Amino acid sequence: MLQLTAIEAGYSDLTVLHGIDLEVHAGEIVALIGPNGAGKTTLARTIAGLLPVRRGQIRLAGQAVERLPPWTRIRLGMAHAPEGRQVVAGLTVADNLRLGAYALRRWRNESWIGGRVAAVCELFPPLRERLDDTAGNLSGGQQQMLAIARALMTQPKLLVLDEPSLGLAPALVADIFRLIDRLRAQGIAILLSEQNAQMTLAIADRAYVIETGSIALQGRGRELLGRPEIAERYLGIGGDSAAAGRRHAQDRHARLVRGLADIFDS
Ligand code: ATP
Repeated sequence: MLQLTAIEAGYSDLTVLHGIDLEVHAGEIVALIGPNGAGKTTLARTIAGLLPVRRGQIRLAGQAVERLPPWTRIRLGMAHAPEGRQVVAGLTVADNLRLGAYALRRWRNESWIGGRVAAVCELFPPLRERLDDTAGNLSGGQQQMLAIARALMTQPKLLVLDEPSLGLAPALVADIFRLIDRLRAQGIAILLSEQNAQMTLAIADRAYVIETGSIALQGRGRELLGRPEIAERYLGIGGDSAAAGRRHAQDRHARLVRGLADIFDS
């Protein structure tokens, strides 16, 4: 669904991304993890068309989109829920959702948009009860739900989620991850950029580790969880020796998988 080849991008004279190759297929959650400043948000914004590509190619369902503006990428099936939610605090929840379909306004009528509001509220029942409230009155978790729901208004094939768990209490983080799991089940391709490496690697089909704008490592999500270098760098597990680190990571992995089974089976 999404294919990046040798992507370079950045800000004025700073090149942040140095030749990123990455793929996301339909019905797959692909994690992008990495430390602060590694380039995750820059990559999400480049995919969405908010930052220009300097070199390389972005294909969406086989079509080259790297020279297309953001609204055309949305029409072709791409959606982006940015870091920091960016809901419009002074507008109602319903109007924030309608804003999500703005790029399609010339192609879709009011009844289609109304149908999408109803459909996304099926996924996010708390929003249905708050449709006429101003978005600024929602809790942090509800605002994050609104940001994802707004991105889903266009019925995307690809969803780019930038740090959806940022600033949320653990119980709400679990809600958000459960929801992302449901979106995968609907066949949407999901690129999930996160600093919360544990939950992200546990839910992801595949993952890429980005460091200083380059892909340092890639593999299956749960396999990366068990790798000592990931445990040391991203899961806060110190390794006095490689073997101890590996054992520790495996224990942690087993506990995490049990915890996730509780979340996703509930
Ligand atoms: P975080 O998890 O902290 O958001 P990140 O992996 O998303 O980190 P980016 O926000 O993409 O990282 O930042 C990558 C690099 O680009 C950093 O060195 C950052 O200082 C720089 N950068 C980010 N935004 C801008 C900007 N608007 N102008 C100039 N440099 C920027």
